[in-house]
Amino acid sequence: MSQKRDYYDVLGIAKNATEAEIKSAYRKLALKYHPDKNQDDPSAEDKFKEAAEAYEILSNSEKRGAYDRFGHAGMGQGGFSGGGMNMDDIFSQFGDIFGSAFGGGSFGGSRSNKRVVKGSNLRVKMKLTLEEIATGVKKKIKVNKLVQADGVTYKTCTTCKGAGRMTQMTQTFLGAMQTQTTCNVCQGAGQMIDQKPSDSDQYGLRKQEEVIEIEIPGGVEDGMQLSVRGKGNAGPFNGVNGDLIVVIEEAEHPELKRENEHIHFESVVTISDAILGASIEIPTISGKVKIKIDPGTQSGKVLRLKGKGLPNIQGYGTGDQFVHIHVWTPTKVTKEEKEWFEKNRENANFKPTDREKEGGFFKRMRDIFS
Ligand SMILES: [Zn+2]
Repeated sequence: MSQKRDYYDVLGIAKNATEAEIKSAYRKLALKYHPDKNQDDPSAEDKFKEAAEAYEILSNSEKRGAYDRFGHAGMGQGGFSGGGMNMDDIFSQFGDIFGSAFGGGSFGGSRSNKRVVKGSNLRVKMKLTLEEIATGVKKKIKVNKLVQADGVTYKTCTTCKGAGRMTQMTQTFLGAMQTQTTCNVCQGAGQMIDQKPSDSDQYGLRKQEEVIEIEIPGGVEDGMQLSVRGKGNAGPFNGVNGDLIVVIEEAEHPELKRENEHIHFESVVTISDAILGASIEIPTISGKVKIKIDPGTQSGKVLRLKGKGLPNIQGYGTGDQFVHIHVWTPTKVTKEEKEWFEKNRENANFKPTDREKEGGFFKRMRDIFS
């Protein structure tokens, strides 16, 4: 598959485009590439679909937010929600954009009349620890979802006579068009309920608890949405199941702070350890490790533990852990200690070198992160 184009580029708009700008840009492209107007140009349909997909994502603040944060990785591929629209989806989106001008399906020929009705999506929140995010994790969750009740039978829809669609002629700004709308009784399925048990809803569905096992990949972030296809509510009229949308929440770690795929830890060491050097134990997401503090370590020094961070969600390696060293200055000292420090107040060994006085040490620290 070729590289997907940036949705903002597809619509030719700025990253901070308003809702109205997004709508207007899409409207122009949809008219330009509408398959009915471009029957000699097979590439028009692809461009039409591309624009529709970009609009679908950017016109929805939640999806747009996910796209802005994670790019295409937050969409289509890899089990995430969004992307991959068919012509039915696109024309059903037209109601918002063009009013009734285009109606349901003015793109004739290539689609069958009846459609399979998709069930609604289920949303669940899942709280994960940093340790779970580091390795990826399998979780079992209990959901209360709509399933088809036993004993439901169907008959041909009496409104559309089983066609799933209603046809009508409409005057539009593109001229007279035969438009089709989805039958609102059967939602396009061509079928309606004949008999159903009394404990089911109007579609012959009822709630049932189900335990679902979900595999969360390593490196997910707070707010990310994963979609498990077909694990949502059952679709009416023998349709297909909706999706289960899992919204990731990241539990705060008591000691470690996350920054994308990197981890930060603030380590406070004694003045003796800083002067003499030491081996200290610190937490990482994969357990405690010992690290070496060199003799003469400055407060503010940052040690980098390669590969001790989190996996990149898009598969680009693993982050690091940064250990920020802080030297603890004693707040109370004995009389003897006080005398000793007093005596050493002018000790040349206790004074910063010229280089450190000029902020050279802190400049080097900044360089690590630039
Ligand atoms: Zn019908």
